[in-house]
Amino acid sequence: MNPPLYSLRMHGTRDGRHLSGAERLVTAEELPRAGRELLRRALEHPRGRADALRLTAEEIPPEAVRYGRLPDLRTLPVADYRSGRRRAAELLLAAGVGRPAAEQAMTALAAGPGPGGCSMRGAMLVDAASGERLEADRARGVRASRMDLTRAAESQLRRRLARVGLDNPHVREALVLAAKVLAAPGIVAELCWSDDPDYTAGYVAAPELGYLRLPHLKPAGEERGGRAFFWRPGAATLAETVDFLERQVLLIDTLGAVAAPE
Ligand code: AMP
Repeated sequence: MNPPLYSLRMHGTRDGRHLSGAERLVTAEELPRAGRELLRRALEHPRGRADALRLTAEEIPPEAVRYGRLPDLRTLPVADYRSGRRRAAELLLAAGVGRPAAEQAMTALAAGPGPGGCSMRGAMLVDAASGERLEADRARGVRASRMDLTRAAESQLRRRLARVGLDNPHVREALVLAAKVLAAPGIVAELCWSDDPDYTAGYVAAPELGYLRLPHLKPAGEERGGRAFFWRPGAATLAETVDFLERQVLLIDTLGAVAAPE
């Protein structure tokens, strides 16, 4: 019998604005160390030190844990962020996102998708055909939550990523987040570029395409970024999709392939 897991979640703010968030699924024994790591992250964020932060730990009943797999990862070389964004738009269309939806989501991320052009805490939820924004709250967005790797999968993933020079927290956490998003009913694709000014890479992920990393999706120094989850009606209601993303527990125990950058 597996020991019960805790969902451990950190949220840091500065001047009332979202600064950083991170989370883990860990045993009671691992909780103190994981808590310290998340606190350190809130205090050492590249955009500044959190002046308020919240750490929540919540026990998860073992029967509520689903198991899942990471998407396959490939890096697609692009010369600069403009060609990266063109490539991202093509990939979204290939994944089944309509052109208006792809274009509107990219424009919103470039402008800053939150109110007044700031970052959101979570993701935009975008109708994959029309581009209409469906999230109830444009500052918070929709949060993919309650997901992590098993410790065995984590060390195996780190070895695989290290072989191709990609073992960093951005890539590891984004892969886990994308696994949760792609497992959600009704999700067609995800688009992401970071709001961390030093990190220019981003990705498009989709169930049939896997996780396609683009080394340049924004210019260095740019703080505007975010995520768009593209949703199509049919497989689930919007409320069911959001419940899966935010509340269902997904523990990744199976890796996907990791290809060397071309
Ligand atoms: P990051 O990759 O951590 O730089 O995050 C980039 C953007 O993605 C953030 O500004 C948020 O808008 C969004 N984001 C971060 N974490 C999540 C999450 N767990 N669920 C949905 N969106 C997120």
